[in-house]
Amino acid sequence: MLPEAINNVKKSRMGENKITLSGIAMGLSRNEFVFYYQPKISLISGKMCGAEALIRWARPDGSLVPPKDFIPLAESTGFITEISRAMFPKLVADLLIVNDIDETLSISFNLSAQDLNSPEILNLIRLAIDNQKINPQRIQVELTEASIINSKDTIVRKNLEELAGLGVTLAMDDYGTGYSSIDSLSQWPFSILKIDQGLIQRIATSEKCATIVQASIRMAHQLGISTVAEGVETQGNYDFLLLSGCTEAQGFLMGEPMPLSELLIYIKKDKRWSGLPIGLIHMAQLDHIQWRKKLIYLITCAGFGDVRDVSIRDMGLELDHHSCRLGKWYYGAGQEFKGHPSFDRLEESHRVVHEISGELLLLAENGFSREEMTTTLRRLIKQSSLMLEMLQELENEALLGYSDLQIFSQWEVK
Ligand code: C2E
Ligand code: CA
Ligand code: CA
Repeated sequence: MLPEAINNVKKSRMGENKITLSGIAMGLSRNEFVFYYQPKISLISGKMCGAEALIRWARPDGSLVPPKDFIPLAESTGFITEISRAMFPKLVADLLIVNDIDETLSISFNLSAQDLNSPEILNLIRLAIDNQKINPQRIQVELTEASIINSKDTIVRKNLEELAGLGVTLAMDDYGTGYSSIDSLSQWPFSILKIDQGLIQRIATSEKCATIVQASIRMAHQLGISTVAEGVETQGNYDFLLLSGCTEAQGFLMGEPMPLSELLIYIKKDKRWSGLPIGLIHMAQLDHIQWRKKLIYLITCAGFGDVRDVSIRDMGLELDHHSCRLGKWYYGAGQEFKGHPSFDRLEESHRVVHEISGELLLLAENGFSREEMTTTLRRLIKQSSLMLEMLQELENEALLGYSDLQIFSQWEVK
């Protein structure tokens, strides 16, 4: 239980109550640091899917010191690793309590690059997993891009890769605040992209920001990475993210960071948010167009001899209709739309498109006449266009069912 005083939050005033390293160390030894938890909502199911652990220092004078007042000092002095080490058992204990209520929920926590400059924290996490205290699939580590870029590259990389190897999900935090986001995303084993709240909060007022957010979601999707938008404060932004294919949202609209006791009540309430993944229908259209482009490119190259020496089958094109991106969506999150006529009809066309792609590959491998190839390609395009039409119909149907989306009033053409 948290001391009563914590509820009576007073703002800590730096001048009056100066924060020093010895003060932090003392607080840590007295067990004064706690985690507050902020819920994350799945934009696919509309249900809570996890929470982020955010540290606070609950001082005996009743003040609750926010991380911005002590984390920078802890980071600059290397003391942050002491804090992370001391807090990890608390995190594990809290996670067990949360999973007792709902075993599907995961908890993410923040690490600094310094925490990965030595194997200490990694070993703590490994031990907790080995002792079956925690399921690695239920914990996520959030790292800021800036902290990684400034890190001692090789050691941090090795520890980070080991962490990912344990099955722990890694999230790139504050995406969009640095200068080489795309570069670091491709270089490190992240499977979640957390879009910075600054970008999210400017969606409604800056078309550029809205475009950057959508492009980031699309880029992550193509890399097989999920996206979490943080700082979601308005229904308009929530709806925008839903329509853009974002995977999860976190922000004051759905819940502010709260003590564990309040989080447990929040979980039990089991509140539902809008979760119809309309944005993913648009992603499915784009995925299919890209798959088709790649197929036609490879076939054409084969026709002109560029890839004759290499089997087209080795070029990374998914030939099975379950394994292409659209297929993964169709048999996964897309099942939400089962029963919609355009969704149900899509399966047959998609299967036929893949069958025709098999025919095209055989032609390309065994030599073909121009006429044979043209006829088969025409059949492919016809089926593929039908599919795109069905997806568009599905998107329209889903949007009409969602006509109360705040985004429409927010963006009404004046
Ligand atoms: P962060 O990881 O980017 O965490 C999100 C911050 O945004 C949190 O601030 C959260 O309260 C705030 N936030 C969430 N939703 C909204 C919203 O809708 N509107 C607004 N205006 N703010 C929102 P907090 O808790 O003060 O944490 C600040 C930073 O301190 C965190 O940023 C993280 O970088 C760091 N931090 C927090 N806990 C830890 C920790 O245990 N270890 C380390 N190394 N850093 C931590
Ligand atoms: Ca974070
Ligand atoms: Ca962040």
